[in-house]
Amino acid sequence: GAYVADANRYDGMSYRRLGTSGLLLPEVSLGLWQNFGDDGPADRHRAIITHAFDRGVTHFDLANNYGNPAGSAESNFGVVLRGDLRHHRDELIISSKAGYRMWPGPYGEWGSRKYLVASLDQSLKRMGLDYVDVFYSHRFDPDTPLEETVTALADIVARGKALYVGVSNYDAKKTEEAIRLLKELRVPLAVHQPRYSMLDREPENGLLDVLGAGGVGCVCYSPLAQGLLTDRYLTGTPAGSRMSRADTLRPGVMNDALQNTLQGLDALARGRGQTLAQTALSWVLRDERVTSVIVGASSVKQFDDNLAALQGPAFGDDELARIDDLLSQ
Ligand code: NDP
Repeated sequence: GAYVADANRYDGMSYRRLGTSGLLLPEVSLGLWQNFGDDGPADRHRAIITHAFDRGVTHFDLANNYGNPAGSAESNFGVVLRGDLRHHRDELIISSKAGYRMWPGPYGEWGSRKYLVASLDQSLKRMGLDYVDVFYSHRFDPDTPLEETVTALADIVARGKALYVGVSNYDAKKTEEAIRLLKELRVPLAVHQPRYSMLDREPENGLLDVLGAGGVGCVCYSPLAQGLLTDRYLTGTPAGSRMSRADTLRPGVMNDALQNTLQGLDALARGRGQTLAQTALSWVLRDERVTSVIVGASSVKQFDDNLAALQGPAFGDDELARIDDLLSQ
């Protein structure tokens, strides 16, 4: 039937400011890397996206290459945008990226002006949009001057094809450089998108400090470590799960030590009245320099489980110490 957005959609969500920018993002965002390609049913894409919107999730994270085949997540998101969400464009923050291989030849990946501009034009066509809200350089290109990459981002903003710019997977030092260069161009670096979870704490080694000092927002991906930090693998590998597909989450990552850590974290989560997934998300959001966690979901039920993280209790110092302890085993 016809979709009508929930009138109370903004009542249950908390929003955080993206660095020192004017933009507020929901603490939980939806990512469309997996589960939104042509290999999944359109009614499930639609159900998860509209449900997220009904719960105050205004931020949807995409990239040129998302979906199977690459690009299909943007095309499928475009269908929902032109359909159920057609009255709501101005309530949405839609992000896309370019950096990984998208088409053959020397202009189909990395960070040249040629690639970034062409890729964004393709993304806009797939989604049926005039502009994206956030456009990212998806990875640092060691062979292109950073100045070229960030100047292309700034020009994209000047041409009205993106409102804010970001970088993803850049290390702390390159991020500092990008902040400085973009400041000169008067288009501030609004956001960095690193991988950050209990199982990958690399951003704690300098990146979060750079972002905090630079007034740059931090939107974290794979906060559930692709599903490891949920109940999905506590008793085996269920059919249809990401690990069962053995593509981006390889069965080889699981071993006795990790299984023990996950069991310990699960027990700690229960003690907090949360699921493991909820505690994992609350833990990433415990740092106020983090703006939002981008979660993936293969069902509405998973996404709801994740949203309920926002109702969880704050962490005591003892709990944080116990988590550090479990993670270092
Ligand atoms: P997550 O760590 O949130 O993993 C999501 C997966 O975990 C789901 O597909 C599902 O797996 C499982 N899951 C989620 N919630 C639950 C739950 N409550 N209970 C049980 N299982 C659950 O993140 P992703 O790795 O999917 O990344 C999220 C987003 O981050 C991407 O969509 C993308 O937008 C962005 N990203 C950005 C990258 C970058 O380079 N900038 C790289 C990777 C991601 P299952 O399918 O098995 O059900």
